[in-house]
Amino acid sequence: MSDIQVPITSVRFGSAEEALVLEVLRSGIVAQGPKVARLEELFAQLTGTAHAVAVNNGTTALVAALQALELQPGDEVVTSPFTFVATLNAALEAGATVRFADIGLDDFNLDPDALAGAVTPRTKVVMPVHLYGQAADMPRISALASAHGLAVVEDAAQAHGATVEGRPVGGFGVACFSLYATKNVTTGEGGVVTTDDDRLADRLRLLRNQGMRSRYQYEVAGHNYRMTDLQAALGIPQLERLAEINDARRANAAVLDAGLAGLEGLVTPTVKDGRAHVFHQYTVRVTPDAPLGRDQLVDALAAAGVGAGVYYPRVVHDYDCYRNDPRVVVGDAPNAARAAAEVVSLPVHPHLTPADLDQIVTAVRRCFGA
Ligand SMILES: *Cc1c(COP(=O)(O)O)cnc(C)c1O
Repeated sequence: MSDIQVPITSVRFGSAEEALVLEVLRSGIVAQGPKVARLEELFAQLTGTAHAVAVNNGTTALVAALQALELQPGDEVVTSPFTFVATLNAALEAGATVRFADIGLDDFNLDPDALAGAVTPRTKVVMPVHLYGQAADMPRISALASAHGLAVVEDAAQAHGATVEGRPVGGFGVACFSLYATKNVTTGEGGVVTTDDDRLADRLRLLRNQGMRSRYQYEVAGHNYRMTDLQAALGIPQLERLAEINDARRANAAVLDAGLAGLEGLVTPTVKDGRAHVFHQYTVRVTPDAPLGRDQLVDALAAAGVGAGVYYPRVVHDYDCYRNDPRVVVGDAPNAARAAAEVVSLPVHPHLTPADLDQIVTAVRRCFGA
């Protein structure tokens, strides 16, 4: 293993986080309390929704959102085959059958035409993933969902603050955010569900707290999905400066775009019209025209001190543990397969210096003989 000088991710907290965590320690309220309530308020503002319900991680957020929709055995969720495994695992845990629709190769998100083709009479939910920080085509996906009477569950784990046609992600039905260590906003572990639907929000709050309405009055078989005030204290200052954090990511992406333009066999990210990308990842494709393969590029960059990551090396269901599961219904998804073979993510996090960006650009250009 060589020395990585420019890592793919870097987690740093400032004095605002330190002060708030200390305040929580001194308050004695370390479980769910006023800081969680404040974090929820900030998420509702960010997404323009009436409700935000904080939970203990992004996977739980997805499970709870699907449970709140009260799926029955045999009900189908249609999602992207090119996503983090939590998307699939959450749907299975909630009892759904999962079907996949192909992605577009330009934005790596669900292709609305492919999605239309994957809907069956058993479909109850469409679950777009706003991958790498760019919103899926929500205007078309929402229209399709309402035409078929389907619920929309957004996997917005990577897209805090992203917008499509001026509308923030998180407000198109019920949406799930992750606050894991590497995400654009982090509480170490954490998740949030946002929605405008009063009934769903009520159900989410019940599910989070053992199904309890008031003390020892249980209405559903719930769980403990609660977030702690210590976690929320970490997230609040980041949400207050999220515009700044995302602007820094976008500015870094622009430098990489300029530095990596014109390399044969390298496709830099596309930002689709009308979408504000928050660059959770800066993901390029290494096509067959390139002078080296994707995995060779990752190794060469590591040797040059640059940490690159492959998110994700296989389509989500391409593992033995899903192979014979009748609830995992696999279809043809050539774009997703191609993306899995060609993608590599370069560092774009807000703590990169101009020298770091230069090191990334120079290293990649060398690999492409430029
Ligand atoms: C991170 C992530 C999740 C899961 O979130 P956790 O907080 O790690 O449980 C779900 N979906 C996607 C696309 C993610 O990137």
